[in-house]
Amino acid sequence: MMKNQHAVWEDFLRDSLSEIEASGLLRSLRTVNCPQSARVEVNGRRILNFSSNDYLGLANHTALREAACREAAHGGFGTGASRLACGTLAAHERLETAIAEFKRTEASLTFSSGYAAAMGTIPAVCSKGDVLILDKLCHACLVDAARLSGAHLRIFPHNDLNKLESHLRWAGKAHPGRRVLVLAESVYSMDGDLARLREMVELKDRFGAWLFLDEAHGIGVIGKNGRGLADSEGVTARVEIQMGTLGKALGAHGAYIAGSRLLREFLVNRARSFIYSTSPPASVAAAAEKAVKILASPEGARLVESRWKNIRGLCSARKLPCAASAIVPVIIGDEAAALRASANLLDVGFLVPAIRYPTVAKGTARLRITLSAAHAEADILALARALP
Ligand SMILES: *Cc1c(COP(=O)(O)O)cnc(C)c1O
Repeated sequence: MMKNQHAVWEDFLRDSLSEIEASGLLRSLRTVNCPQSARVEVNGRRILNFSSNDYLGLANHTALREAACREAAHGGFGTGASRLACGTLAAHERLETAIAEFKRTEASLTFSSGYAAAMGTIPAVCSKGDVLILDKLCHACLVDAARLSGAHLRIFPHNDLNKLESHLRWAGKAHPGRRVLVLAESVYSMDGDLARLREMVELKDRFGAWLFLDEAHGIGVIGKNGRGLADSEGVTARVEIQMGTLGKALGAHGAYIAGSRLLREFLVNRARSFIYSTSPPASVAAAAEKAVKILASPEGARLVESRWKNIRGLCSARKLPCAASAIVPVIIGDEAAALRASANLLDVGFLVPAIRYPTVAKGTARLRITLSAAHAEADILALARALP
């Protein structure tokens, strides 16, 4: 009996992997033996890195390293408890104040990751009987959080505001008096295009819904100091729940929800990924705070601008219209062909990942290029020549 069950499990794992491999979708880990930057070492070779979300080169910035070391030297490393037990440290509070100032919101609350921020926040604010309306291209963590919430789900085709409007109208009729939350990203992570944010804000306001905006790829990218799309479109006060990550352009780790003081207090009491999880090390919070301060400074504006110069450089070398963000997809279509293209690039010294189903729809496999302020002009031109 025991043995039988064991065989069932082994077969399940092995068969699943064979199936994944047969459809050209097997993934494996690649070890990088150096700090995250424009060049990385893979299998003993130095190659140009176009796969990281470290958009400003902050992940290995001296000031972040020093802030983390200083904090760890004084305050130790582990935090030992959740924020609500004895795990809230001065570094967490300082980071949250810095984020709220930078985002021009009343308050913010940080989480261990963007995934945790979504999983904690969305089911806290919407539950059974409420309505969640998602853009089709929303990140996996928003989809998972929406499912976990138990709310009614409606999807609209990417950026299709007519369909969003009809969902909003339906929600008002079918579920009168219930909370309705629209979920969208400012920059879509696999396409690099932007939400039609101003129109979306008009629309949700008209129906009395709230908007949850995931700025994972917008913070540090969009607007003069990378304050994000809500700020650059002048709608900060009308986007009720703003999320962003601290591990991408900010070069640290973790994520935030920014909004009203009331929202923050509510989440402290209701977001399960916040309540039931050990708080991040103070050194991580200190590094993130440093990153936010850099971003707000003239150095931040310079980094954002030099990254735009790289984006413009690649697009003009490839005779493409200028990309809207630091993500430039090259659509290949076939999964195996995208893998081959990525492997060919790796052979000649460029790390450009192939993105496949289930991250993107079947038959829309692509090379996903991410550009950083840390790339030199020559790196960009070399990539432009090497791309298929
Ligand atoms: C990366 C990402 C997340 C998750 O953030 P982590 O801090 O990496 O967990 C959430 N949403 C979007 C759009 C992302 O790209």
